[in-house]
Amino acid sequence: MAIGEAILAKNDHLAEHNRQWLAARDITAVNLMSSPGAGKTSLLERTIIDLRGSRSISVIEGDQETRLDAERIQRAGARAVQVNTGAGCHLDAPMVQRALNALEPDPGSLLFIENVGNLVCPALFDIGEQAKVVIISVTEGDDKPLKYPHMFSAADLIVVNKTDLLPYVDFDLEAFTAHARSLQPGVLILPLSVRSGAELDSWYRWLRHPAISAERRPKSEPELAKAK
Ligand code: MG
Repeated sequence: MAIGEAILAKNDHLAEHNRQWLAARDITAVNLMSSPGAGKTSLLERTIIDLRGSRSISVIEGDQETRLDAERIQRAGARAVQVNTGAGCHLDAPMVQRALNALEPDPGSLLFIENVGNLVCPALFDIGEQAKVVIISVTEGDDKPLKYPHMFSAADLIVVNKTDLLPYVDFDLEAFTAHARSLQPGVLILPLSVRSGAELDSWYRWLRHPAISAERRPKSEPELAKAK
């Protein structure tokens, strides 16, 4: 087995352990991934403030360096632990396991895992999350799904943030949707604006039942037989 494969096999084993740990406590874990600056932390701050009193939320923050984002989350009113990956470009299952032990999320709560900002490595590592959310902002190119197909193929939900800026940028939402759906025909795409609050209700509705996208759902035996 190649070294890369062995690392992934060990990671996947621990990811499954994390998934069972979370399921036993009825904790919903959502993995947020995006380029730097797309608005992961801003979306979390707003979500924590808007859902205050209705749902317990905690956050695992992944960044190469600093505790800045964990401090932002704590100021917004949620518990957070920061994981610094140093030279690493993603969170892996062992890091999340250690963070879970430190954070001890409430049973029945919502747990966000903010991954390290880039569209490459985080797509390759299962960390035991229930759903993967990829965020892109309209200040980025609408061709990103074609350039980073692993990331956009892994998404259960794609959030398009900063829609308040659409009049000022060349982002073509229709073209973006076509690119994303060329990878995953049925993928859910949710344009919203953290800043203006537009469509945040749809985000909160999705969070109540974070669905795995149809393409990523494990196939049942009859479906697999049909696909052959
Ligand atoms: Mg951040």
